[in-house]
Amino acid sequence: ERRAAANAPITPGALADGTPVQLLANLGSPKDAAKAAELGAEGVGLFRTEFLFLDSSSAPTVQQQKEQYVALLKAFPGKKVVVRALDAGADKPLAFLNDSEEENPALGLRGLRVLRAKEDILREQLTALVEAAKETEAKLWVMAPMVSEPEESEYFTSLAHELGVEVAGSMVEVPSAALLAGQILETSDFVSIGTNDLTQYTLAADRLLASVGHFQDPWHPAVLRLVAEVGKAGAESGKSVGICGEAAADPALAVVLVGLGAKSLSMTPAALADVRAELLTVTMEQAQARAQAALRASSAAAAREAASAAAEPAN
Ligand code: PEP
Ligand code: MG
Repeated sequence: ERRAAANAPITPGALADGTPVQLLANLGSPKDAAKAAELGAEGVGLFRTEFLFLDSSSAPTVQQQKEQYVALLKAFPGKKVVVRALDAGADKPLAFLNDSEEENPALGLRGLRVLRAKEDILREQLTALVEAAKETEAKLWVMAPMVSEPEESEYFTSLAHELGVEVAGSMVEVPSAALLAGQILETSDFVSIGTNDLTQYTLAADRLLASVGHFQDPWHPAVLRLVAEVGKAGAESGKSVGICGEAAADPALAVVLVGLGAKSLSMTPAALADVRAELLTVTMEQAQARAQAALRASSAAAAREAASAAAEPAN
């Protein structure tokens, strides 16, 4: 099956009934952009910008950042490229930004919380992105990490718009943001669900800690219920809901996420072919049936099985 997927022609993501599902790449450096485009990425759903800030004792200049953003955007002319503002903290500590004294860094000053405390860094990053976009044909979208309430999405979106970003949104990776997705969407142009952190925070299990690693499973029905909330809010608002956590790279789960309302899936480029092939085997009605079956389960393993059982032809 893997072989068949790899050899299948590269077409835009869609279900068997023609419903489009945008298939995007998660990237951590502009170096990987050309390969992702070759593998059929229809754009970028998550460009992690931490690489620019690692190994430095201060932030890179606007000019240094701009060069990297131009290199990225040039690989996707006419395509959507979602860049995430710097997500420092917990799993991605930065010497000059994070307080190493925090007892629970995953629950501390991270993501947008840090950027807000050091607004100059955020302003410079947004400025570099706007300048880079002007020199390329890509459609730049920018999103904030670790948004936990609507006031934060309003802060980020209005600052980004003020600095010239046309499309500004919020990641939904904290349960509070998922539960208030409707209000987050009132102040954001789009949302993108980060299933890695959403799982960590929903199950209260540190994603870096092996001893609680079994909780880090995005099939968990508690996580899926939060995704469903966001999907519903997206449909009501008419705004875009994407997924950019690892969950989107699991073909069977990708189907479920689409059934819950995701309009785009962003993943490691190596997973694009298999996810594309799997989506082509189901209609929206079937994806929704699998999603409903998974939602009713009581554990991640049971949700996986329920979705798979719902996929068997009835006889
Ligand atoms: C996520 O949390 O799902 C996500 C996409 O971001 P990161 O893995 O970089 O925290
Ligand atoms: Mg995250």
